[in-house]
Amino acid sequence: MIEDKNQQRTQLSDLGEFGLINHLTEHFEIKQSSTLKGVGDDAAVLKFENKKVVVTTDLLLEGVHFDLSYVPLKHLGYKAVVVNLSDVCAMNAQASQITVSIAVSNRFPLEALEDLYAGIQTAAKIYNVDLIGGDTTSSTTGLLISVTAIGEVEDEEVVYRDGARPNDLLVVSGDLGGAYMGLQVLEREKEVFKVNPNNQPDLEPYTYIVERQLKPEARKDIVQLLKDLKVKPTAMIDISDGLSSEIMHLCKASDVGCDLYEEKIPLDPQVISTCEEFNIDSTTIALNGGEDYELLMTISQDDYPKIKANPNLTVIGYMKASNEGMHLVTRADTRIPLKAQGWKNFND
Ligand code: ADP
Ligand code: MG
Repeated sequence: MIEDKNQQRTQLSDLGEFGLINHLTEHFEIKQSSTLKGVGDDAAVLKFENKKVVVTTDLLLEGVHFDLSYVPLKHLGYKAVVVNLSDVCAMNAQASQITVSIAVSNRFPLEALEDLYAGIQTAAKIYNVDLIGGDTTSSTTGLLISVTAIGEVEDEEVVYRDGARPNDLLVVSGDLGGAYMGLQVLEREKEVFKVNPNNQPDLEPYTYIVERQLKPEARKDIVQLLKDLKVKPTAMIDISDGLSSEIMHLCKASDVGCDLYEEKIPLDPQVISTCEEFNIDSTTIALNGGEDYELLMTISQDDYPKIKANPNLTVIGYMKASNEGMHLVTRADTRIPLKAQGWKNFND
């Protein structure tokens, strides 16, 4: 994309810092009543009436968290926002504002940053969040993007990681392992492309999992669903590093143990078929692959009737006393201690 001779390349230095900031942010609209002042002053000004405010931030670094040879900048902008909104959802809160900070080297023309901000703007629109500020600086190497998200939640509605109790149900939204398998497919196509640049990848059989990798979504809809069902989870976390390590975070914070049932783990058929093709065990992928951005929660048994028929929520286990430990109960009915192999970044 950056190499494309047909595309216009406007040097960032032609605009200057303020020209650049203005150019990138002028088309963003302010929609939230809690935003009193957005981009353009020394600081943004927010006003939340009687709500709790949640704040979360993430940093993405080229070569560590993303590879621009197969991640389009537009998708990167979208994903950088979504991963933060997912953390806001995990607090059972509604996201309302974001700030975006970038460090960029002069190998990027203005048009590349326009693509990045187009993705940011799409996410801001879809998730109804205001862009209220950020910072812009030059980088000597690659691209760095840091997003901070702010959200609001009614006093009694906030959900922490530490509220799980023995006998609570362990519940997950959506399905797992897709983002990791999508990455495996993209990595393989990149290698093929290196050997033969004329080879156009056929990603058709992998549409769902590639989209799970390139265009993840924050489960704002699940937060709303729980509200509609009148279910307040006892604890919640978003799945950025793989099911296993997130379960362990919940258990440790809540001082409980857990049984996770292998046969209950929700997997999309495309994840199963791609795992077969790559000769990888799909349970291992669901446990240790990252970036699915689903919500993992614990729910009181009393609330089971409210969630049991819902296709968006799957009960995958239940919580136990902490001295019983954390186990995977396999299809063969053996109990294996859970390990947090986790998912650090693309190069691990
Ligand atoms: P300061 O010198 O006080 O840090 P800046 O000149 O960096 O201010 O920023 C001016 C305004 O533009 C501020 O409102 C800031 O939040 C906003 N801003 C700067 N960079 C970005 C960016 N990359 N995206 C969105 N807003 C930005
Ligand atoms: Mg600044």
